[in-house]
Amino acid sequence: MCGIVGYVGRAKAAPILLDGLRRLEYRGYDSAGLAVVNGRHELQTRKCAGRIAALAKLMVKKPVSGSFGVSHTRWATHGKVTNENAHPHFDASGKLALVHNGVIENYQTLREELISGGDTNFRSETDTEVLAHLIGKLYDESCATTVDTPQKKAHMLEAVRAALQRVIGTYGIALIHSDVPEFMIGARRGSPLVLGVGKGENFLASDVSAIVAYTRDAVYLNDFDVVAVDREKFEISSLAGETGDHQVSKVEFTAEDIKKGDYAHYMLKEIFEQPGTVRDAMRGRLSPEECTARLGGLNMTPPQLRDVGRIILTGCGTALHAGRVGEYLIEALANIPTEVEYASEFRHRNTPLTRETLVFTISQSGETADTLGALRESRRKGFRTLGICNNVASTIARESDGGVYMHAGPEIGVAATKSFTSQVVILTLIGLLFGRMRTLSTAEGSRIIESLEALPEQIETVLKLSDQIKEIAKKYADVTGMLFFGRQFNFPIALEGALKMKEITYLFAEGHPSAELKHGIIALIRPDLPSVFIAPDDGVFSKNLNNIEQVKARKGPVIALTSGNGASQLKTLANEIVTLPEAPDCVMPVLSVIPLQLLAYHLAVELRRDVDKPRNLAKSVTVE
Ligand code: GLU
Repeated sequence: MCGIVGYVGRAKAAPILLDGLRRLEYRGYDSAGLAVVNGRHELQTRKCAGRIAALAKLMVKKPVSGSFGVSHTRWATHGKVTNENAHPHFDASGKLALVHNGVIENYQTLREELISGGDTNFRSETDTEVLAHLIGKLYDESCATTVDTPQKKAHMLEAVRAALQRVIGTYGIALIHSDVPEFMIGARRGSPLVLGVGKGENFLASDVSAIVAYTRDAVYLNDFDVVAVDREKFEISSLAGETGDHQVSKVEFTAEDIKKGDYAHYMLKEIFEQPGTVRDAMRGRLSPEECTARLGGLNMTPPQLRDVGRIILTGCGTALHAGRVGEYLIEALANIPTEVEYASEFRHRNTPLTRETLVFTISQSGETADTLGALRESRRKGFRTLGICNNVASTIARESDGGVYMHAGPEIGVAATKSFTSQVVILTLIGLLFGRMRTLSTAEGSRIIESLEALPEQIETVLKLSDQIKEIAKKYADVTGMLFFGRQFNFPIALEGALKMKEITYLFAEGHPSAELKHGIIALIRPDLPSVFIAPDDGVFSKNLNNIEQVKARKGPVIALTSGNGASQLKTLANEIVTLPEAPDCVMPVLSVIPLQLLAYHLAVELRRDVDKPRNLAKSVTVE
């Protein structure tokens, strides 16, 4: 959440900052701002509530000049969405500008302390401004008579370190000072920050997508790193002042990969990428000879894998739903007791863990604060904790004992789509691997591999349903909400279908196991609240059919996803029938979720929602 971009170099800073912000807008879009220092040591700031387009407009009216600066796109945590609360924030002197991602939990105490010391110059309601004032105060105190630039830089660094040592909470920050030319400082704890290394220019960003058009050389900062950056060099040290080694890595994607192409929205592009992303999630990981999966990244020996007696899958939102499919999969394929826990709950409760427990954290970005918290708690307790994430340079990837990467490419749409199917495929591979070490025969393993290999082509077939689903969306555009039902492997798909619907259409939506209908939800059934049933022609089809009858008997419209002979049996019952290709139960969720992604998408477009930047949401949830 929230995007930070900083630049120091020879080029004009403002266009680079603005361009970087546009690429990070999916991380937050309440307000935007930047500060650039010109050749006369003047700090020029432009900031406003609203989207980056509003900031760009403001900059056309009031341009800024200069070759170093910082910028921010906000997802508000403390303080309303107003011009004053937009970042950057300043110190009392107005010479220091700071952008921040995260939460300063003890900001009230620090603020009171600053006020009682005579600081009356607070202009916003944010937690961030307190940090700017604290750094500024410490700098001014130490630097009163210094005129020498290297010394000013050293004082600035010391002030940042001293201030951050007083902070309780999380931060990714970038700051500049109008008296210290061509210099910026970055630091992180709990919120991501990456340094982009260019030629005669350097960058700071929350995410490499902001800077990949300028450089593909990056240093991913660790918690408690502080980096001092100027045009030609950078120096990374710890909060305590110790210098350490840091590796410059190559970003694995290019600026081309984050373009929307001919698609109207990133979300639609990402839905249509799924044949390829599902293929990439399996690439090199299937062993048809041994009828199993190869997952070397787990970093576990066969005896260690054999000794796993319990699995906990943890994540948030869509990743949690993938985990729920994983629970069904791993128990069915490997007969290992598996539980799914909300990462935010797991991290604070005392889940009894036994010696043979293996914990998986699932997060597309690898930066989700709640999931990272669960990972750290699990490792602190001494449990082997593995990650399933997309971003190979992420904090979760780096802090896990091992894991499996999705290789799905950047996901920009705030509503996760392709990452879900990749996560489910990876969990199927995990189920297959553990299963083949326990209960699955070679023939069963082989059948699962064949079904997995068939998926990319079957997804192509499902994507051809897009036009039919668009028509359904048009027909149901004035409903008051939607209910989603499924059983077994498709119960989590009902949850995920409802989540997509809520996220981008803002309609009321709920997902339930089909059989729960009669235990309460049936009271909601009425003509303007359609029920979507995920009812493939599987072992529970006849049970789903009963529930569909119950809805129809109460005049509830039914949209049914089915397969095989299901369509003929539903002909007189369902108002709409969407037919999926036939596939075994364990891979069906990868197919059945796609029409629901498309339904939410087309309905959102019909309702003129901002599909890629839905209300109140943002991607990469780095706050708790
Ligand atoms: N806590 C800060 C604010 O509310 C930063 C939020 C963010 O990460 O965008 O302004």
